[in-house]
Amino acid sequence: MAANTCESLVIHCSDWRLEQGLGTWLKQAGLEQASFDRLAINGGIKQLVSPDSSGERDSFLKQIEASLTQHQPNNVIIVSHEDCGAYGGGGRFLNAATEQKFHASELARAAELLRAHHPGLAVALYYANLEEDDDEWKVDVQSIG
Ligand SMILES: [Zn+2]
Repeated sequence: MAANTCESLVIHCSDWRLEQGLGTWLKQAGLEQASFDRLAINGGIKQLVSPDSSGERDSFLKQIEASLTQHQPNNVIIVSHEDCGAYGGGGRFLNAATEQKFHASELARAAELLRAHHPGLAVALYYANLEEDDDEWKVDVQSIG
């Protein structure tokens, strides 16, 4: 492996509540020793799947291109989360199951769009539930494809 390549590209929302828990989860997922590029932007894949403008999607894709070209990660890990403000928060959904189903569909579409640009790209999809515990935000991350 060349010195400037990395194991994974991780994409998630920039929501501060994810930071600590997601860091722990990434370590547990085996990325502790490995290097990974991280794209943390408001709404995560929203700018790819449901952008406010086509410029937003182009800009998102440029970020992905940069990582894939410069650091050749073996896979892309995408994490969406509950109560995402970029999507209008959790309150707009009937219940937690409906919210997760919506995000699962957004994630599937993200994988589809990325593979359309990069055939054969390995993409792993995850959904993070947020839990407030003693003034600390924890995440419960589950694989959804
Ligand atoms: Zn968010």
